[in-house]
Amino acid sequence: MEECLFCRIAAGTIPARTVFADDEVVAFEDIQPQAPVHLLLIPRRHVANLNDLASGDHLLMGRLLEVARRLAGERGLSERGYRVVTNTGPDAGQTVFHLHLHLLGGRPLGWPPG
Ligand code: 5GP
Ligand code: ZN
Repeated sequence: MEECLFCRIAAGTIPARTVFADDEVVAFEDIQPQAPVHLLLIPRRHVANLNDLASGDHLLMGRLLEVARRLAGERGLSERGYRVVTNTGPDAGQTVFHLHLHLLGGRPLGWPPG
């Protein structure tokens, strides 16, 4: 998956402002932030989106959510709140086809989105 932007960010061949990394997950600042906090959390393994997950991947998704919760807490968002979203497919506006969670916070977020 050498042509995939987020695979390249995970591999370090494209620079990003990384805020967390372990053997499974990488988190970095979105290049075009939509809120005071806008992080992207990705699995190191290439998965296009939720449609691409296998049944055993609930552990991976749980891990991504756990990292999101921790990063939100570190940024002081726990009390006021934050949003975790994963756009899946064209109607949802997915532009990068490597699964990612957006972690957004630091301002009131409108609902419903879009
Ligand atoms: P999507 O629209 O697929 O849900 O989200 C893709 C996100 O990736 C967008 O919020 C966009 O700003 C971000 N993005 C696109 N290219 C880059 C990049 O090269 N570096 C970083 N850090 N974020 C990117
Ligand atoms: Zn990828």
